[in-house]
Amino acid sequence: MADTPKIAVVGAGPGGYAAAFLAADLGMAVTLIDPELNPGGVCLYRGCIPSKALLHVADLIEESRQAKNWGVEFGEPKIDLARLRSFKEGVVNKLTGGLGLLSKQRKVEYIQGRAAFENSNTLQVARANGSTGSLRFDRIILATGSRPAIIPSLKLDSPRMMDSTGALNLSDVPGSLLVIGGGYIGLELGTVYAALGSQVSVVEMLSGLLPGADRDLVLPLHKRLEKSFAAIMLNTTVAAMNEEADGIRVTFDGAQVQEREKIFDKVLVSVGRKPNSEIPGLEKTGVKVGPRGFIQVNKQLQTDDSNVYAIGDVVGEPMLAHKAMHEGRTAAEAIAGHKVAFEPAAIPAVVFTDPEVAWCGLTETQAKNENREVRVAKFPWGASGRAVGIDRPEGMTKLVIDPQSERVLGVGIVGAGAGELIAEGVLAIEMAATAKDVALTIHPHPTLSETVMNAAEVFFGTSTDIYRPKRP
Ligand SMILES: Cc1cc2nc3c(=O)[nH]c(=O)nc-3n(C[C@H](O)[C@H](O)[C@H](O)COP(=O)(O)OP(=O)(O)OC[C@H]3O[C@@H](n4cnc5c(N)ncnc54)[C@H](O)[C@@H]3O)c2cc1C
Repeated sequence: MADTPKIAVVGAGPGGYAAAFLAADLGMAVTLIDPELNPGGVCLYRGCIPSKALLHVADLIEESRQAKNWGVEFGEPKIDLARLRSFKEGVVNKLTGGLGLLSKQRKVEYIQGRAAFENSNTLQVARANGSTGSLRFDRIILATGSRPAIIPSLKLDSPRMMDSTGALNLSDVPGSLLVIGGGYIGLELGTVYAALGSQVSVVEMLSGLLPGADRDLVLPLHKRLEKSFAAIMLNTTVAAMNEEADGIRVTFDGAQVQEREKIFDKVLVSVGRKPNSEIPGLEKTGVKVGPRGFIQVNKQLQTDDSNVYAIGDVVGEPMLAHKAMHEGRTAAEAIAGHKVAFEPAAIPAVVFTDPEVAWCGLTETQAKNENREVRVAKFPWGASGRAVGIDRPEGMTKLVIDPQSERVLGVGIVGAGAGELIAEGVLAIEMAATAKDVALTIHPHPTLSETVMNAAEVFFGTSTDIYRPKRP
């Protein structure tokens, strides 16, 4: 490599911009290429950030409705959709504009355009202004992300059909909305539309919502969604969809189906995401793509072509922004010659529904599937002063613990703010904390964070907040 290595980063999502910015900080000459005006990628433009801005508003609406139970009554909220959209767009513009500025400050060359490979060192870049040109680099980092998966049988060319991007555009609040897929994106967006006034139904082909999460964590969410959603149809598939004058007629299939056909004003298809590994010209490099479409990388995020690194959604699950960012940092450091590897002990997953569901490390389900002996200690939020004080006693915090070493292997939380609380679990796992470490760590009172300490006390049978806690 030259004295000042030339690095290209293709895709400016959380993985790509983290890689580009750190590479620049480490002294490399960096070019970052993405079709958008500013860095941000899916996460900032049409993913994490706009969805959470809308979920914040949904939470407020829901709380205002609950408030009558606490002696405070508000009228039914009036939704000004144009202002809500502009709030969400303002958040996105502020953050992506900030990244544009950070890019300039670091002297990262930002090209608005699309990249294709000429070979392992050279990209052909088609700029948004219409010009094209060849650019040579010492190393290339691919951070091209992912896109909504499409099931051919669920394809219907109609303005009534939406994917997550369309749903976030918030063009209207449909009277009725069918969400196909009970994963986190469908449930989060369904929560937004339900709060705004849509009758939301969810259809999921598996036997439960949020496949992948432990069932006891999902249960409180399922119970609450049964109240805020019009229907939750499990073990059910969509057999057919046809557009009619007054909506989309959906035919359901499955043993538990009660109403075989129903008309919905709009349908949101949210059945997973596909990696963007079909990068033009990739076949001219030594990069290999695995059977599920993910680019294959080693622990330094280097592909089978030593000049090409890849990070983020395009290299594998979990397709989450924080995983992409850490991989981006690892790739930049590896290129800089640092001895690094991407081998986290835990990557948190958060579902920003109401209540939130979050987990990290080993789940109870995984332990069962792997026949791994674990002890599980649960603390019910009904015994948490803070949870009761905010009228959210339905939550639960649990630790999955190794019975021999008493190390914390996994943490699961369901409840208000679980997404913030889970970070303590990730730290505990990364630091190889034992249940004793967690039990002896003084947590502030009254907080929801205490429930993590309380769960560790339950493990030892020493919790004083529940009666005769038994060692699990
Ligand atoms: C509705 C929704 C909500 C989400 N919420 C969360 C959440 O709360 N928390 C979380 O962690 N994750 C969330 N995600 C997932 C998160 O957005 C992704 O995991 C994350 O954006 C992946 O980052 P990335 O850097 O791999 O790629 P991306 O963010 O996908 O960015 C890739 C970029 O590369 C560009 N690109 C592709 N091909 C080329 C090319 N040939 N040339 C130039 N540029 C190219 C794309 O246009 C895109 O801008 C959500 C996703 C969605 C859809």
